[in-house]
Amino acid sequence: MTAPTREYQRSPNRLTPGELVNELRLRHQSSGERRTALLMLQLNRSDRLQALARSDGANDALREVAKRVRAILRKDDRFCFVTPDEVWLLLCELPSESLAELAGRTLRESLMRPINIDRDGENTTIVQLRPVVGGCWAPGGLIPDPMTVVSAAAAAAVRARNADEHVLVTKLDSDMAIVHRASLERELRAALYSNELDVHFQPQIDLSDGSCVAVEALIRWQRPDGKAVNPSLIASVCEERGMMAQLTQYVLNTALRHQMFWRTQGIDVSVGINLSAVTLSDSAFPALVGQALSTWNIPGDKLLLELTESSIVQHEHSAIEFMRRLKEHGCKLAIDDFGTGYSSFSYLRQFPLDELKVDQSFVRNIATDKGDRQIVAALIDLAHTFEMHALAEGVESADALEALAELGCDRAQGYHYARPMPPTEFAGWYAQYNDSRSTQNQHASSRAD
Ligand code: C2E
Ligand code: MG
Ligand code: MG
Repeated sequence: MTAPTREYQRSPNRLTPGELVNELRLRHQSSGERRTALLMLQLNRSDRLQALARSDGANDALREVAKRVRAILRKDDRFCFVTPDEVWLLLCELPSESLAELAGRTLRESLMRPINIDRDGENTTIVQLRPVVGGCWAPGGLIPDPMTVVSAAAAAAVRARNADEHVLVTKLDSDMAIVHRASLERELRAALYSNELDVHFQPQIDLSDGSCVAVEALIRWQRPDGKAVNPSLIASVCEERGMMAQLTQYVLNTALRHQMFWRTQGIDVSVGINLSAVTLSDSAFPALVGQALSTWNIPGDKLLLELTESSIVQHEHSAIEFMRRLKEHGCKLAIDDFGTGYSSFSYLRQFPLDELKVDQSFVRNIATDKGDRQIVAALIDLAHTFEMHALAEGVESADALEALAELGCDRAQGYHYARPMPPTEFAGWYAQYNDSRSTQNQHASSRAD
């Protein structure tokens, strides 16, 4: 038997990490007015999903990654695999600042295309990457310590992922980003303190009969200058700066208050709340949920708490107890953005989860992309195996909806039905939606007669 090939490691401009850092040092010393950038590419492989298709194409996938990386490099640029999941790129002699960002975007787009691996002409394995690129460039004339550049690129990669920006390249000699984040934090703290944040709601539809059965509560905030702030960024600032407990309490109570009001109007929908990783280590949280449910007189099973795969993994040992305590109040639990993490899904079995939310990145092109369709089919089966229902996020078209219904998906959420809306609009939307459903049903039954 031949050993797995490591061909992805061979190429003229591929270095070892040590060589690349050294090259970075030399480049800074000699670059004059030209700029040098370090891009840190995190692959976020979801090929573990393909275990379902009984195939492992890790080396072939990495060879293809190396090929696509090389395709965007210029002659003097360099790259190295730091781990099988992380690639560093050194972009040399950049004539303009924006080129590093552009290279990052091009790289990401190229790597977003599924990688098909044909094994023995029989099984095709599809590897889907969800890459994130962080980068840092030092202007000509500045001779930084290479590790400062590495740390800044790593910090940019974390920010890119948390803020859902996917590609973020920062300039080394500028602390503008830090200043920006500090003022954002100050304003957010003030807004939370004075209850100035909004909560919007996005409907979720039961695909067995088309009824709207739930809404997801999503935070919204405009800074004093009127600019809306990305909700993932709000969540990540709250998480980093110790404001998450306050944010979650605010969203929970605001959502339950509206839910109570809708119930008085005969609108019986569950409400979903997003929980962050830090909330899982907050042992006071389950009791606060119990209090909030009784304050607003909401049955526990009408509240769904969404946890992400990564937050469960981070709190592997305490997560079960945390979930059990929420279940004591009758709450339902969902796993959000499923398919984007690294963990093995055999662990799902041990948790009392009710819903698996298939990440929207797999759903977006489901009608046209065979690989995504296979992944979603596998995830729906997985949900059903563990007696959860499957909800597809990011359903934007009738075609996607049709594909999901064919695959036996239970619920759907996305712009095809409605964007997240302010609570004042929801009752009107709900009435109109039900009217159009009953008109469609009447048409269908008169055609059948
Ligand atoms: P999520 O929990 O996965 O929420 C779904 C996101 O997908 C929402 O983005 C929603 O607006 C968006 N979305 C829904 N349907 C579609 C569609 O058809 N197409 C597209 N392109 N997008 C769609 P949003 O509101 O920007 O929130 C982003 C993330 O921020 C959320 O992802 C969640 O992780 C976090 N988040 C939002 N509100 C809260 C909160 O109150 N607490 C915490 N901890 N996190 C929150
Ligand atoms: Mg969610
Ligand atoms: Mg989600």
